Amino acid sequence: MLQSINPVNEELIKEYEEHTDSEIENILKRNDKAFKSWRTVDFGHRADLMRKAGDVLRNNRDEYAELMTREMGKPISGARAEVDKCAWVCDYYAENGEAFLNDEIIETDASKSFVTFEPLGSVLAVMPWNFPFWQVFRFAVPGLMAGNAGLLKHASNVTGCALAIEDVFKKAGFPEDLFRTLKIGSSKVAGVIENPIIKAVTLTGSVPAGKAVAEKAGSELKKTVLELGGSDPYLILDDADIDKAIPTCVNSRLINNGQSCIAAKRFIVVESRFEEFEEKFVEEMKNRTMGDPMDDSFDLGPQARNDLRDELHDQVKRSIDKGAKCLLGGEIPDRKGAWYPPTVLTDVKQGMAAYEEELFGPVAAIIKAKDEEEAIQIANDSIFGLGAAVFTEDLGKGEKIASKKLNAGNCFVNSLVKSDPRLPFGGIKESGYGRELSHFGIKEFVNVKTVYVG
Ligand code: NDP
Repeated sequence: MLQSINPVNEELIKEYEEHTDSEIENILKRNDKAFKSWRTVDFGHRADLMRKAGDVLRNNRDEYAELMTREMGKPISGARAEVDKCAWVCDYYAENGEAFLNDEIIETDASKSFVTFEPLGSVLAVMPWNFPFWQVFRFAVPGLMAGNAGLLKHASNVTGCALAIEDVFKKAGFPEDLFRTLKIGSSKVAGVIENPIIKAVTLTGSVPAGKAVAEKAGSELKKTVLELGGSDPYLILDDADIDKAIPTCVNSRLINNGQSCIAAKRFIVVESRFEEFEEKFVEEMKNRTMGDPMDDSFDLGPQARNDLRDELHDQVKRSIDKGAKCLLGGEIPDRKGAWYPPTVLTDVKQGMAAYEEELFGPVAAIIKAKDEEEAIQIANDSIFGLGAAVFTEDLGKGEKIASKKLNAGNCFVNSLVKSDPRLPFGGIKESGYGRELSHFGIKEFVNVKTVYVG
C-alpha cells in the first residue's frame, strides 16, 4: 500500500493499492503499443498536444499546487510557480523539439550521409517527491516530443501527484497509455527494468537509489540518466557585495523548505569577509518564518516526511559533536508534523556531516577559507558536482572561476543556481551523469542514427 501523509500534521491523506505484477505487465504492453504508433506521429501534432498539456497545467494551477503542498509540504506559492514552470517546458519543447531533432547532413565520401534521431521506446522514470511535478515534466516533455513513451514510478509519498500528471497528458489528448504511472514501491523497480519493453531509465533522487538503478540497468545494457544529490558551494570572495549576496544565498538555501538538489548548502567565505557574512546571514535566516504551507504569508513549511527530518537532525547533531557551532535553530520543534527550523552551522570543517554529506533541509553550513584559492579548493572538495555559485564584483574573475575552476555541472556568478528549459542541467561526480533540458536533454533518449548512402 502506498500512503500519502500530510507532513504538516501526520494525517493520512489517502492510501493507494499497488499495481500487481500482472497489472504492471499489462501497463507495459499497452505503453509499448502506444509507442509504436506515436513514433509515426508528425512533430506538428506532437507539438499541438504538448501546448495543450501546458494549457491543462495553467488552467488547473491551484488544484495541482494544493495537491503538491498537501502531499509534501512545499509552500503554496512555490507549488504554483512549479506548475507554471512545467507549462513553460511544454511550450518550450512544442516550439523547439522538431528543430532540435532535425536530420544533420554531414559531408563525407558518400553521395549523402546524415544523422537522424529516432525514439527508443518506453523510458522508465524513477522520480523524487521534492518537485513532484517539475522533475517529471522535465523528463516527460522532451521524451514524448522525441517520440518515446513514458512510464513513471514516482516516490511512494506523492502518488496523488503521479496520478494527476498521468491525467494531464490524458486531458491534453495524448494517446491512451502513452504516459502511464506505475503504482509501485522501489522494490519492484528492478523487475520493471528487466522487462524487455523498457529501453532506458532516468532517475532523480539520492545517490544510493541512483547507484541501485544504474547497476540494474547496466546489467541489462539499458541507458540511464541520473540526476542525484548535490552539496552546492556558494563562494563569497573578498570583493563580493555582501548585502546583495545574502538574500540570494538565503533564498537558495531555503527554497522548497531546503529540499532541492541545487539548493546552496555550503557557504565558503574568505576570511576577510567572514564575520560580516556570518552575522548578516544569520539575521536574514532569522527573518524567515515557518508555518502552514497553504498560507502564503510563511516562507517555510515542514519537511516532506518525519524520517527525512530525523535524518537531517542527526546530521546537524553529528556536525555539532565534531565541533561545528550552531548559531540558529538546530532543534526539533515541539509540534506534530515534520517541522525543522532554519538552522545555521558555522566553523564547519572537513570530516563533519555538514561538510561531507548532502543536507536536504533548511540547514546552512558556513566554512571559512583563507583566500580565494582555498575557497575554490574547498568548493571542489566534495563527492558531489551538481551546482556552484561565486559572488564577486569582478565579473571577469567570476566568469573565469565558474567556467574553468569549479567542478560542477551548473556554475553561476552572482546568482542562485536554477534550472531553465533553455539551458542543460545535470551533474558530474556522484551528482550523476547525462543532461536534462535544452537540446542536450532531448537527445539523451534517442538513437543517434548514422545513415550513409554510397
Ligand atoms: P530516494 O532517492 O530514496 O527516492 C527517490 C526515488 O527513487 C523514489 O521514487 C524512490 O522510491 C526510488 N528509489 C529509492 N531507492 C530505490 C532503489 N533501490 N531502487 C529503485 N528505486 C529506488 O530519496 P528519499 O525520498 O529516501 O530521500 C533521501 C535523500 O535523497 C534525501 O534526504 C536527499 O538527500 C536525497 N534526494 C535528492 C533529490 C534530488 O533532487 N537530487 C530528491 C529526493 C531526495 P520510493 O519512494 O518508493 O522509495
